[in-house]
Amino acid sequence: MRVAIVGGGAVGTTTAVALKDRGVSVTLYERTEIGDDTASSGRAAGLCYDAYAGSLDARLGSRSMERFRELDAAGEIEFTDCPYVWLVRSGDTEGQDALRDSVDRMRSNGVDISVLDGDTLGERFPALSVEDVALAAWVANAGYTDPGAYTRAMGSLAADRGATIFEETPVSINADGTVNTPAGRESFDVVLVTAGAHTPSLLAAAGLSVPIKPYRVQALTTGAIDVDVPMLFDATGGYYLRPAGDGLFVGDGTEPIERDPETYDRAADDWFLSAVDGYLETAIEQTLPVARSWAGLCTATPDGDPLVGPLTDSIYVGAGWQGHGFMRAPAMGERLAAEIRDGGSSEPFSPTRFDGDEDFEIVEGMDRE
Ligand SMILES: Cc1cc2nc3c(=O)[nH]c(=O)nc-3n(C[C@H](O)[C@H](O)[C@H](O)COP(=O)(O)OP(=O)(O)OC[C@H]3O[C@@H](n4cnc5c(N)ncnc54)[C@H](O)[C@@H]3O)c2cc1C
Repeated sequence: MRVAIVGGGAVGTTTAVALKDRGVSVTLYERTEIGDDTASSGRAAGLCYDAYAGSLDARLGSRSMERFRELDAAGEIEFTDCPYVWLVRSGDTEGQDALRDSVDRMRSNGVDISVLDGDTLGERFPALSVEDVALAAWVANAGYTDPGAYTRAMGSLAADRGATIFEETPVSINADGTVNTPAGRESFDVVLVTAGAHTPSLLAAAGLSVPIKPYRVQALTTGAIDVDVPMLFDATGGYYLRPAGDGLFVGDGTEPIERDPETYDRAADDWFLSAVDGYLETAIEQTLPVARSWAGLCTATPDGDPLVGPLTDSIYVGAGWQGHGFMRAPAMGERLAAEIRDGGSSEPFSPTRFDGDEDFEIVEGMDRE
């Protein structure tokens, strides 16, 4: 079986490795360099955990965590175990109800998650400002890694296993599943499109419509910090942070507006930079200098679930990750590879659950139940 993969982000490269492990011939086309900072995988935070309220998502999260640690043990990537703390502040009763409800559902999926009050959280992480923390969920099976480095590592592993990799090679596809490359039109048994925010336009050129909308999010890294923090999501404030080198990685700035991946503004907004000062004051009672800041794209779908599986006999898709594509890449790559080789579709993620012309709002987050 000969498979072409269009897009060498975290999902495409991981699927390439998983296909090679299943004895499939793989040719991967990447329009820039694998793992560079032009695509989402090179601009992501790399927060990873298994804390999902959906049972399939939790299984996929758990498998991904296992795989990140296997890759770390094998020396392929550096993965740092670190608890993920999701907190809600006093006065945010809606947030507290949502946290309790999600924790119950996560527990029913076997997720190792405990609920703490602010004082207990403060004992574990004294640098955190916990005075007005009403509730915090503590996720044990969590950690972080550098998404660009992971993607490059997967690209190298795929090449070591015999995949043919073309970088700096933008391609397009045709309705019959053939690929237009700089060397001419190539035929494969299956073409998998894992082109991130470019996925809808690539498929549209082949006459296939998918309801995926790219939207902008923002992030920055800070100068050095001399206290210990976990990976933290402040649900009341709507920001997250994690340790990054000797500083922090801080993210937020989601804009529910559809963006063109060719022309979107890749610089962080001034409002985001000033908002981060407020987030840090709230979280750790200090501000930190900005080392680097940027904007990147995530992709939304009508129901918050990704589109994974066959669109036609020969064209597959893996996209629409709703801000959670990196941490799910190890498990989703394996799933996609198994489906491509053996047939079948990733219910409930089958892309044909949509007509393709759905009108929908971009909503942050993936849990719509
Ligand atoms: C600031 C930020 C923080 C994030 N934090 C997290 C996080 O903590 N955890 C998490 O799970 N997710 C996070 N995400 C989301 C995550 O980045 C994405 O879900 C994930 O990287 C998607 O990977 P991908 O391989 O599908 O797409 P991409 O990484 O976008 O890769 C698609 C690739 O396709 C290539 N391509 C496009 N068109 C063509 C073409 N015509 N021919 C050939 N190649 C083409 C692109 O160049 C690109 O390399 C974050 C995103 C951002 C922006």
